[in-house]
Amino acid sequence: MSNPSTTASYDVLIIGAGLAGLSAAVALSASGARVALLERKPYVGGRAYSYAHPALDEVIDSQHVLLGCCTNLIDLCKLSGADRHIRWYDNITFLEPATDTAPTRRSDIGPSILPSPGHASLSFLRASMLSLADKSRIAIGLLEFLRGYPDTDEEPFSAWLQRTCQTDRAIRHFWEPVIVGALNDAFDRCSTRYAGQVFHESFMKSAQGGRLGIPTQPLSQFYSSVAHFAEQQGTALHLRTSIDTIERWNNNQWHVIASDGSAYLAPYLLLALPFEQTARLLSTLPRSSPQCASILADMAHFRHAPITTIHLWFDRHITDLDHAALLDTRIQWMFNKSRIRRYEPGSPAQEGQYLELVISASFTELHQGREQILHAAIAELTRFFPRIRDAGILKSGILKEARATFSVVPNLDRYRPPADAPGNGLYLAGDWTRTGWPSTMEGAVRSGRLAAQAIAAAAGNPTTYLSADLPAAGLMRLL
Ligand SMILES: Cc1cc2nc3c(=O)[nH]c(=O)nc-3n(C[C@H](O)[C@H](O)[C@H](O)COP(=O)(O)OP(=O)(O)OC[C@H]3O[C@@H](n4cnc5c(N)ncnc54)[C@H](O)[C@@H]3O)c2cc1C
Repeated sequence: MSNPSTTASYDVLIIGAGLAGLSAAVALSASGARVALLERKPYVGGRAYSYAHPALDEVIDSQHVLLGCCTNLIDLCKLSGADRHIRWYDNITFLEPATDTAPTRRSDIGPSILPSPGHASLSFLRASMLSLADKSRIAIGLLEFLRGYPDTDEEPFSAWLQRTCQTDRAIRHFWEPVIVGALNDAFDRCSTRYAGQVFHESFMKSAQGGRLGIPTQPLSQFYSSVAHFAEQQGTALHLRTSIDTIERWNNNQWHVIASDGSAYLAPYLLLALPFEQTARLLSTLPRSSPQCASILADMAHFRHAPITTIHLWFDRHITDLDHAALLDTRIQWMFNKSRIRRYEPGSPAQEGQYLELVISASFTELHQGREQILHAAIAELTRFFPRIRDAGILKSGILKEARATFSVVPNLDRYRPPADAPGNGLYLAGDWTRTGWPSTMEGAVRSGRLAAQAIAAAAGNPTTYLSADLPAAGLMRLL
């Protein structure tokens, strides 16, 4: 038990300075609440982090991307000035690997002067990665998402692909790169609801919604602007503060104790944590309320999916592309970090090139050793970029994130709790809560803002913190 006289007192305590906690802190402190943001790591950003790798002598991260339809994340970045460090791209390049008889083929999907939903149709029709038969099946399938996407999440996306008779190549060259990249799990572990949302919001509703945004700074540097902004609004940020116990005192205050013995008190407590960390802290409550007991039981339905990133420094120039989706490989995406980071003013010129390769849903790689992963990745990459045959690899690194995202498995929505589910002044945020979004930075920011709205309403100051969705453009307005 901590000494009450040394306990710091606030209006709201937020545990976790990932994007959910940061966005809630910005919203609530801007409204005048005294907020303490308690984070166990020495940096903010949670899973969207970067760090200085001592052996590589480089700052590395797992590249995160956003889309134009991520209105809340973009708004948070604009408020804090971080948006100056986002590079926007209209086109996505898909590469087919070279074969014995044909060189690498490139298809670029991007908008044209045609109105939405047809803005990308010209590039789609030109794309060599798909045959006419593949394209017509895809077009028929996409019609289902023209007016929106299912309200319910029972149907697995694998069943949808079968039901709409998608061809093998349409699956490998279109649905898989987009859906496994966005939802980070196999088709049978993704519901059609969320797959449909990805296509409706980013491919059909407007050209703006599908723009690809890439932070040009390492992620911890990128999100430190948001933390500074929260502090300017009055948030007290406590890094290296790992909360071990939460308890409800009789005077309707929440009392939390960190592993270093520091203690904090407030009438409102927000757990802005991944589901397994939330479960751990809820279990420390001496007598869990029936609501908490049911939230804890519901958490058994959540599962993690991993992402593995491979970092390669070449002694020479490999490609002029900033990024590309790589088809028919384990690697889904290539990010040319040398080119992406050179958009930062003052970044040093480099002779060689630093490429990052992303393997989504990397359950297989989770159990493989470093050499096996590297060997396979370099062999695959050479089929796209033949210059690698003559290049030397100066250094390499692998980052495995076993708990990168939660999977939007069919029927999960009923178990995703709203922000105010626990009751008694205790609130929940985090990408896994009921946001209507999959496991993304946008979902996390929405969850933080929804929780801030719930806390403001409970304190008698109802406010809206959520940004509006992007409006439909072109002919989509008529639908
Ligand atoms: C490799 C990888 C690639 C990804 N790519 C993308 C992408 O391209 N686009 C995209 O939108 N999303 C991507 N994501 C998902 C995205 O990072 C997450 O959805 C989002 O960051 C989740 O934010 P959060 O605030 O909900 O949780 P978190 O980021 O997990 O934040 C929770 C915070 O709580 C802290 N914490 C935990 N326990 C305690 C405790 N007891 N006391 C104090 N603090 C505690 C943690 O240290 C952490 O900072 C990716 C994730 C990974 C890992």
